[in-house]
Amino acid sequence: MKMKIIMLGAPGAGKGTQAIMIAEKYGIPHVSTGDIFRANIKNNTPLGQEAKTYMDKGMLVPDELTVKILLDRVAKDDCKNGYVLDGFPRTIVQADVLKDALSKLGDRIDHAINVDVPDENIIKRMGGRRACLKCGATYHIEHVPPKKEGICDNCGEALVLRDDDKPETVQKRLSVYHEQTQPLIDYYGKEGILKNVDGTQDMNRVFEDICGILG
Ligand code: ADP
Ligand code: ADP
Ligand code: ZN
Repeated sequence: MKMKIIMLGAPGAGKGTQAIMIAEKYGIPHVSTGDIFRANIKNNTPLGQEAKTYMDKGMLVPDELTVKILLDRVAKDDCKNGYVLDGFPRTIVQADVLKDALSKLGDRIDHAINVDVPDENIIKRMGGRRACLKCGATYHIEHVPPKKEGICDNCGEALVLRDDDKPETVQKRLSVYHEQTQPLIDYYGKEGILKNVDGTQDMNRVFEDICGILG
């Protein structure tokens, strides 16, 4: 099945967790701009150095840079049968660029899934998040613990607390989300492809709701 999906939601809403499950079930790549930036930071590339200055402050990486990375990624061969975008678009400008690029190919996004979680729950979740910077897997010390403490189940890498998951930065990211990204809920509502799911449920429940939407 050919399927292009966007995940919307606040930082920590569970977009990545759900996107990985969607990617596996539907056999499409999981494309996370945050993961691409973090891989570049880990390898100390010029892109990584630039992105880090914004990410550590809880700010968005500029549209121009982000859009180029994303369009290059989805032009790759493995994306020809669709993909699930996690963390992109995050601004109206990004959404417009994606829409135009797809429409030039006679194509469009099929579903925008909004994983809805109130800010109070987000703050609680973020401190417990642990990330694998090698394969992109995400854990939670209480809700989604790895089999062996501090070690990624998939690839054996040591898990880390992301620099931008400190409480001060989480607050900033939430305000950036409300200002710049939340308007996309309306945007995709008007496009007629918005689907809301209750992201406060257990992750398997959230996934069931999403599968009900995607069919
Ligand atoms: P989260 O999992 O909390 O939603 P991400 O991993 O998606 O976070 O993103 C981490 C950071 O990377 C963001 O706070 C932002 O600085 C940067 N980033 C990721 N995607 C984008 C994007 N589409 N536009 C601008 N900045 C981005
Ligand atoms: P996002 O990509 O939206 O920033 P993540 O998928 O990284 O969010 O999830 C944020 C944190 O919450 C992670 O530690 C993850 O393990 C945990 N988490 C994800 N989904 C749920 C859920 N439904 N209930 C409780 N914790 C969750
Ligand atoms: Zn890993």
